[in-house]
Amino acid sequence: MKFRDKRKNEVKEAYSIVIRDGKAYITFVENGKEYTYYEDNIDIMQPISPKDNNTPFKVYKLKKRCYRCHKETTIYTYIVFDDGTYENVEYPWDKQRLLKNQNLFAHLQDPSIEYYGLLVIGDDERLDQMLMNQYPDQIKVKYSKTQGRRYPMNLCVHCGAQQGWYFIYHEINEWIKDMKEIPFDEI
Ligand SMILES: [Zn+2]
Repeated sequence: MKFRDKRKNEVKEAYSIVIRDGKAYITFVENGKEYTYYEDNIDIMQPISPKDNNTPFKVYKLKKRCYRCHKETTIYTYIVFDDGTYENVEYPWDKQRLLKNQNLFAHLQDPSIEYYGLLVIGDDERLDQMLMNQYPDQIKVKYSKTQGRRYPMNLCVHCGAQQGWYFIYHEINEWIKDMKEIPFDEI
């Protein structure tokens, strides 16, 4: 099972994790040395089997022209409200609710989009992990120079180019503003 060491922000694979009195006793191999962590310093990542169809969110399939090879590729993402509820943002789009948690600061810097209060792939580690488990060939953790961090990205099916967060977030903002429906994966 996997856990995240919050202090180092590293994900590690454990052989066993036993939680007792606020501490986590972790071994990395069978009969291996036991390491002690404060429970608060780790996040146990729930095991999700590949192709587990129980994602708690709707998976949207955004058809998009790849910026590099200009061929059409599919981008998988969740679109959920960024208000702590993680509820699906669904068509017909509730712009009023989306504007409640608008990133006004970003919008003033870049008025080309509304910066609706929504999360897409690359925004939430837990949801990213679930999405990645479902589409392991299409989504991989890659380094983004623009953001200076590693996060899951869709890769172009033709040329493998990374389809970064801003590209997707921007596109979704436009579709919502224009009241256009985004296809989703029927599972
Ligand atoms: Zn491409």
